[in-house]
Amino acid sequence: MPFPHKVCVVTGAASGIGREIAWAFAAAGGDVLAVDRDPVLLEQLADEAAGAALRIRGAVCDVADAAQIARTCDELIARAGRCDVLVNNAGILRRGALEDLDDAQWDQVLDINLGGGFRFARQLGRHMIAERRGAIVHIASIAATQAHGGCGAYSASKAATVALSAQMAVEWGPHGVRSNCISPGLIETALSAPFYAVPGVRAQREQLVPLRAIGTPRHVADAALFLASDAAAYISGHNLVIDGGLSHALIGQVPRPQAAA
Ligand code: NAP
Repeated sequence: MPFPHKVCVVTGAASGIGREIAWAFAAAGGDVLAVDRDPVLLEQLADEAAGAALRIRGAVCDVADAAQIARTCDELIARAGRCDVLVNNAGILRRGALEDLDDAQWDQVLDINLGGGFRFARQLGRHMIAERRGAIVHIASIAATQAHGGCGAYSASKAATVALSAQMAVEWGPHGVRSNCISPGLIETALSAPFYAVPGVRAQREQLVPLRAIGTPRHVADAALFLASDAAAYISGHNLVIDGGLSHALIGQVPRPQAAA
């Protein structure tokens, strides 16, 4: 998919899904600012990209810190003059029972998963509105609609992300700015690695997914590239679920004894 000279920002780009999105955008011709809090991983990514003649620069920034976000965005606009695409991907999962969740944990998850995306979009959205074009992609999760035990504040943060994306689509659409969400299902990355380290979990999970496979960061990156590109010029306010059919298969797990069928 052609993506010539698009100025892109991808948050949480040092690993997993964000790294793959940054790479896919650059491989398609984009000029990518990879945002994360780990300077070593960002440098590795930029070096690897340079070796492949791709344009990826790293920017160390904690998405929970409004001042760092403002500085990162200001520096980008000063250098590139505009931002065409923002992918709000940085996110964390902190597991635990709701009744044990303290305010600090709640605030941390909301601040990174929801607040970071809002602040980046607010900062860069102003420039997109002035340019009368731009595309924002938020990485939410099927947890936004499929609550499951021990997720803490994660599901709530992702449900709010889906709503925030729709809000941006409505408010900024008249200014030529599109906003869409991607809700991945089971994707193997550092974030989900602890689950797959448990013997048997992979096979059990694969069996639950209609496509009988765990997703890869590349599956999500392909969708992000599509939503950010001009091929999706009339798509805004959408939540694209990428889960191999998993969220439609859960009802099939309910036992139905033959006699009652
Ligand atoms: P990952 O491999 O852990 O990557 C997330 C990246 O975001 C990491 O590099 C992380 O850095 C960074 N990050 C976290 N907090 C940050 C902050 N405050 N400021 C800057 N960077 C920060 O996880 P992933 O699986 O690729 O997840 C990416 C997104 O997909 C997340 O929003 C996640 O909720 C969503 N998602 C993932 C799955 C899945 O199955 N993997 C499913 C649905 C949705 P640190 O390593 O320092 O934390």
